[in-house]
Amino acid sequence: MIEARAADHGLSAEQQDFVAAIRDFCARECAPDRLAELTDDFSDLHNDSLAARIAELGWYGLTIPERHGGSDGSFFDAVLFLEETARGQAPIGGYGVTLIVVGALNRFGSEGQKRELLARVAKGGTLAIAMSEPDAGSDVAAIKCRGRREGDEWVLSGSKMWCSYAHKASHTLVVCRTGAGSERHEGLSMIFVPREAEGFTITPIDTLGGKETSELHLAEVRVPAENLLGGEGNGWIQLMAGLNNERVILAALALGLAQRAFDDTLAYVKQRRQFGRPVGSFQALQHRLAKLATDLVQARLLVRWVARLTDEDPTRMLPREASMVKLATTELAKRCALEGVQMAGGYGYAREYPMERHLRAAVVSTIYGGTSEIQKNIIAKTLGL
Ligand SMILES: Cc1cc2nc3c(=O)[nH]c(=O)nc-3n(C[C@H](O)[C@H](O)[C@H](O)COP(=O)(O)OP(=O)(O)OC[C@H]3O[C@@H](n4cnc5c(N)ncnc54)[C@H](O)[C@@H]3O)c2cc1C
Repeated sequence: MIEARAADHGLSAEQQDFVAAIRDFCARECAPDRLAELTDDFSDLHNDSLAARIAELGWYGLTIPERHGGSDGSFFDAVLFLEETARGQAPIGGYGVTLIVVGALNRFGSEGQKRELLARVAKGGTLAIAMSEPDAGSDVAAIKCRGRREGDEWVLSGSKMWCSYAHKASHTLVVCRTGAGSERHEGLSMIFVPREAEGFTITPIDTLGGKETSELHLAEVRVPAENLLGGEGNGWIQLMAGLNNERVILAALALGLAQRAFDDTLAYVKQRRQFGRPVGSFQALQHRLAKLATDLVQARLLVRWVARLTDEDPTRMLPREASMVKLATTELAKRCALEGVQMAGGYGYAREYPMERHLRAAVVSTIYGGTSEIQKNIIAKTLGL
């Protein structure tokens, strides 16, 4: 009883039922013995048919208004969903980035864009966003990809790097330079490019995480003028407006992964015996697990607090809190996974066991969506440093 109350961290009965339903679904549909098949032996962490089935339950459209096929839930609901599906290892890797684009559509999309794209997502569709370029990573304002207006079309040229799930997305939201400005972050715009557009090439990058991210090339790609998201030249402001959402989304995913690495480690040290006793009975391991358990509770409170603040006023900018939550959870995911490998010994290193996979997934979380160094820079700036 105490354990159940402690674990729900003040969720309402309805929210607890929601979490339990997702947990049941993952245990049933994404059990360890089914995962290899669902993910093409862990090389493809997004399964379109599983996404469509989850969408049928109304969970893909949590932050989408009912009139566009969604279930009109809160951002907090989406955060619960993200944490629980990451913990349950549901192979819907494209959902996080899709949710980031859904946030941008909710805030700045035209009625036409919402009608088409939100409805697709509510049915399990994927959307992608391309900011990073070969020479513009942490320094996003260094974007060079260009868009020019010709009659009733936009014509895009340039290269993008690391675009997550672009190969699965019906549309990629491309951040490009459509005008000049006295500052580098002026003159940027966001334009939707459909996957099949002529001149649009998507080349997968081989990574520790399998087929998740791609390099994009845009060679005079023509799209209709109405594919512009929000205002021309407002790209930077629109990007900043989405930061709360983006960083909490990535944090919730990292938290779910951290919890899963912890759960698997705990189960392992209870059953693995050496020197005639479970290895979990050695204090050297116990203290580290006790610390991780404490850090997980702290991280969960932080994620839910920032999600609640975001729901209270979606227009409020929370740079410090959003960076703190991203930094804390992703670094924790890395620690939980690394400790998991260490505590599982040689078996933690073997591909047959899940720990090395958790580690590969965790390593990238402190890089994408702004590295840990960049999150610390932002937090320091809010301290007047
Ligand atoms: C798997 C994956 C998926 C991704 N998905 C997407 C996506 O969907 N869309 C997208 O647009 N991008 C995506 N990215 C790109 C990601 O956001 C960038 O990789 C990230 O912002 C870092 O940029 P970079 O790789 O160019 O590193 P760099 O910016 O070159 O940084 C290199 C190192 O220098 C450090 N550094 C840089 N500047 C500073 C500074 N001012 N102070 C202190 N340290 C600094 C960094 O922290 C890092 O350790 C993805 C990346 C990966 C690996």
